[in-house]
Amino acid sequence: AKKHGKDRYELFEPDMRAEFQATVDLEADLRRAVVRHEFELRYQPIVHLATGDITGVEALIRWQHPRRGEVAPADFIPLAEETGLIVPIGEWVLREATTRVAEWNERRAGRPLSVSVNISAVQLEQCVLPQVVQAALDASGLPADRLILELTETLLVDHRAATLHRLEAIKALGVRLAIDDFGTGYSSLAYLRRFPVDIIKIDKSFVDDVVDEPTAAALTHGIIQLGRALQLSTIAEGIEHAGQLSSLTGGNCELGQGYYFAEPLTRSALDDLLFPVHRP
Ligand code: C2E
Ligand code: CA
Ligand code: CA
Ligand code: CA
Repeated sequence: AKKHGKDRYELFEPDMRAEFQATVDLEADLRRAVVRHEFELRYQPIVHLATGDITGVEALIRWQHPRRGEVAPADFIPLAEETGLIVPIGEWVLREATTRVAEWNERRAGRPLSVSVNISAVQLEQCVLPQVVQAALDASGLPADRLILELTETLLVDHRAATLHRLEAIKALGVRLAIDDFGTGYSSLAYLRRFPVDIIKIDKSFVDDVVDEPTAAALTHGIIQLGRALQLSTIAEGIEHAGQLSSLTGGNCELGQGYYFAEPLTRSALDDLLFPVHRP
């Protein structure tokens, strides 16, 4: 039995060790990335669907890893959350996004952009988050009502009174709150009563099927009407073709984002889009 046990041990152990080692390496790399500023933001335009005007951008993080190249957030945000590194990373995202958008707004007199920043549950556990948000506003000069914090429903599953108080403290700064991936959680409707939300982001999974599936269309249009009844803005995520756009505008959806309009853009690509240089 002992030998059998040992064989099994040897059968499984190298794999587990490799996986463990990979995680440890990535964690060490991530710690270094924070110190060495290896992150960049992309900015995806958010468009007023009826007019096509860009009203804001969502800031989306990328990691420029020295050996692996560009790493998508899905591949490091979970580790950043587990290790707590999301706190300094998230603080950098807030500062960078507000600074850049305040700069763009100086050149867009009368038509200021809003900036949406994703906030993870781990950041909301920090009692200093309201001060961190205020510090980013102060440093950038961005008016509070131009900053939107995007929260996922999984984050709001935490019903502790502290979470609600923190959200209210953040709300009191004058920033707006959005529920991200709306409709994918278990009790989306309950959150609308409990949390001081301003914006609903309709999850891409509804938008994907809005043309071909009557159920997805009915749910999407129902969410838009619900938003209207509660005086919330609705943003449809992941619009990829004209058919989806016309279904959404037909349902009076106010705002949208997706590859149909633009992918998440580098700072200089968004600059070119906002301020086109007319070459002869
Ligand atoms: P999310 O907040 O739901 O962001 C939308 C994702 O959909 C982005 O992926 C975006 O690039 C992608 N997307 C936008 N339009 C389209 C489209 O038309 N078609 C398709 N197929 N995809 C589209 P990305 O940038 O890879 O980000 C993934 C997730 O990582 C985000 O989902 C968000 O939850 C998280 N994330 C990104 N940046 C940050 C950050 O700074 N902080 C935190 N805490 N999370 C972040
Ligand atoms: Ca988001
Ligand atoms: Ca989303
Ligand atoms: Ca998502």
